[in-house]
Amino acid sequence: MTIGKSITTVFRHPEAACRTEGFAESIHAMHLIFFPQLNERPDVARRRGIRAKSICAQCNIRKECGDWALANAALIGDTTASIGHKTIGAIYGGMTQYERHEIRMGRAERDSF
Ligand code: SF4
Repeated sequence: MTIGKSITTVFRHPEAACRTEGFAESIHAMHLIFFPQLNERPDVARRRGIRAKSICAQCNIRKECGDWALANAALIGDTTASIGHKTIGAIYGGMTQYERHEIRMGRAERDSF
């Protein structure tokens, strides 16, 4: 099963760790970890990012998910205007929004898998 066109498809992939962690039963719980919340404090964002990345690190489709996220910047809201230094943002493929931006700009290397 490949990752489709929608964001939801990523998190519903049968091999997605964010699904097997039990988040499929609670989309809200998954959102609290993988997506920024309104007026999120930087320290809360950092902790959220660490937790999401630890889940991604165990995911069988991390590379596919990361490829998908890098190729779908507009769909997932990775707009240049919204990305500041060290912005955590949404986590996909074990990458923060800022990390994906730097990779797309050719200023950072992607982790090897
Ligand atoms: S890499 Fe992370 S965000 Fe992507 S499907 Fe796996 S656990 Fe979910």
